[in-house]
Amino acid sequence: MSSDFDIIIAGGGMVGATLALALARTGYRVVVLEARPPGAPDQPSYDERTTALSFGSRRILDTLGLWEAVAPRATPIDRIHVSERGRFGVTRLCARDEGVPALGYVVANRALGAAWQGALDETSVAFITPARVRGYRLGGDGVTVDLEHDGRPCELHAQLLVAADGTDSAVRAMAGIGVRERDYGQTAVIANVTPDRDHGNVAYERFTDEGPIALLPLNEGRCALVWTRPSSRMDATLALSDADFLSVLQSRFGWRLGRFVRAGRRAAYPLRLTRAQRDSAARLVLVGNASHTVHPVAGQGFNLALRDVAVLADLLAEAARHGGDPGDGSLLDAYSQWRRRDLDTVQLYTDGLVRLFTNPWPPLAHLRGAALAGLDVCGPLRRRLARQSMGLAGRLPRLARGRAL
Ligand SMILES: Cc1cc2nc3c(=O)[nH]c(=O)nc-3n(C[C@H](O)[C@H](O)[C@H](O)COP(=O)(O)OP(=O)(O)OC[C@H]3O[C@@H](n4cnc5c(N)ncnc54)[C@H](O)[C@@H]3O)c2cc1C
Repeated sequence: MSSDFDIIIAGGGMVGATLALALARTGYRVVVLEARPPGAPDQPSYDERTTALSFGSRRILDTLGLWEAVAPRATPIDRIHVSERGRFGVTRLCARDEGVPALGYVVANRALGAAWQGALDETSVAFITPARVRGYRLGGDGVTVDLEHDGRPCELHAQLLVAADGTDSAVRAMAGIGVRERDYGQTAVIANVTPDRDHGNVAYERFTDEGPIALLPLNEGRCALVWTRPSSRMDATLALSDADFLSVLQSRFGWRLGRFVRAGRRAAYPLRLTRAQRDSAARLVLVGNASHTVHPVAGQGFNLALRDVAVLADLLAEAARHGGDPGDGSLLDAYSQWRRRDLDTVQLYTDGLVRLFTNPWPPLAHLRGAALAGLDVCGPLRRRLARQSMGLAGRLPRLARGRAL
């Protein structure tokens, strides 16, 4: 295999792999370096979780020709129901009101991994695994990446290095890019649970004093649970028997879905807010969790990252048409500028929701109830919230507007 490429993507998780697929037809020679093979039990991206894809993300995947592989494994979200435990006031969003076939879709991460792997096999993208990036250096008009492939050191050259290696990005650290971060002191426990009432394709987001509980519709009457609790209670939560786990969940979530009768395997994810101080450096660009990690409330992280992918692919495709250098500094600056507003908005929105709903101050609690009720009856405000949640707000790249690169 050649050691010369145009673009090296460090990390072949959900974001790195999607970027590779987006670039597959742009004419660039692309290689993905992935530390853990997609089928491996410790693969951090394609694990036990499910992902709520927004309608905007569906459009990006559709335009890339990837939706076909995902659709049979995706459960549509027809309505979203937002409430607070022990308080009045709910906000309801409905696909019909927004003029879309679904507000979003729920897909198992492993199913996404299988679909992406199948799609990558049909392209000329080189996917090297197990391959861990150990370092990189600039020189001439490119970048040289040192990696360990199957225990052996090797080198690859390219014009652009993309860091898609997750929240604790080693590549970001190698570039000396700092990161602002805050530990939420909360951990999300995820599991599939089965209620005895039909979920009716409704996604529930229920705020509690401990953190939000999300229940997303899945096939066979199951729901994907993302239950945020203080990290100090997580060991005890994981140690509960299934029956006790469901009983505590029931007392926290309530009876809107009837009785919870079955729970699948549980896994825990400590939650942090992170934001890289810069999204680019010389011949380097950061995407996905390597650039930003948000609280899973409202299921925004991967959707936000897909917009990173769509914007970067848009700029790179344009450069390819003019024979430009994919690692050109002005292209990378344009990427950072384009992404800033969306990243700021989503971080503010998700972080604000978590802080607002865990604040015990009684007047604020009353205001929250009034705000949820007010949002429910105020069409224009609700529509704005829906468009933001669906990833249809702001300046959209071509892929998000349904236009091929
Ligand atoms: C509980 C929970 C629920 C969530 N639910 C949703 C949701 O419903 N909707 C949504 O939009 N988002 C959701 N998210 C967020 C979403 O999971 C992340 O945004 C997404 O996984 C980020 O993917 P990534 O590829 O950037 O990072 P990762 O998934 O961390 O992938 C990074 C990849 O890089 C590889 N790697 C690491 N270091 C190296 C190296 N040195 N060399 C080579 N490879 C390397 C890793 O093996 C991995 O494959 C959720 C997150 C959590 C925690």
